[in-house]
Amino acid sequence: MKRIIVSISIFLLAVSCEKKAPNISGLEQQAQEIAVEKIGDPKSVKAEAGTFPLYALPYVYDAFPGSIDPKTMEIHYSKHYVGYLNKLNKAVAGTPMAAKDLVTLLKTLDMKNMDVRNNAGGVYNHELYFSELKAGANAEPKGILADAIKRDFGSFAECKKQLEEAAVKRFGSGWAWLVSDATGKLKIGSTANQDNPLMPGMEISGTPILALDIWEHAYYLKYQNQRPEYVKAFFDIINWDVVLERYQKSLPPSELPSTTNIVTQPPVQTP
Ligand code: MN
Repeated sequence: MKRIIVSISIFLLAVSCEKKAPNISGLEQQAQEIAVEKIGDPKSVKAEAGTFPLYALPYVYDAFPGSIDPKTMEIHYSKHYVGYLNKLNKAVAGTPMAAKDLVTLLKTLDMKNMDVRNNAGGVYNHELYFSELKAGANAEPKGILADAIKRDFGSFAECKKQLEEAAVKRFGSGWAWLVSDATGKLKIGSTANQDNPLMPGMEISGTPILALDIWEHAYYLKYQNQRPEYVKAFFDIINWDVVLERYQKSLPPSELPSTTNIVTQPPVQTP
């Protein structure tokens, strides 16, 4: 009898040990998932050597709680943007395009060259987007930009409404833009894919001063199919000082106000 009890005990112990095995591997799996979710450091991102340099992100990936989640920001910068940059550098290597600055390259682009079109657009558009964001900005346009918005749209609220509409109505992937034309007049529109208003023959053309990325990769992890929610949250983190500086630079000399009205800003990284 005693031997039977011992045998049963050993059997039960063996079964219980066997049952513990999945728990241990479950813990390991959990640890792996946590490791995968760990957010990296933008300073450790490297691009392949090439003509066009890597834009250094001036903030950490979790700089925008409530607006853009850190994983989205990390993938957006270190994978999508760096991917466009590497492909652009490969595409222009050994061609006369490598001698041009990015804006000139875009303005003189052969639109049938899809490789350069997609990747040069991808690099320029993302550098514009990343450099116009500021944590906790929650601000409105200032100075001559605020005046121009009032002149061309009636109010900032109307300008914002039109930008939101342009972003939400664009079917599929693309960008919504606030653009300054050759006379300094402001316009709103959108483009598909990685096209932008500097490229020849676009439905909206001029100097982009605000770029809104409406590719799903810019918002899907946090907002899924709710693009309008992402667009609303984007307005909370626009650095209007940067947009104002871009607007000032876009103006033809005849449209520049007297120097006393120009708001001088600290240097910012712009493409
Ligand atoms: Mn993007």
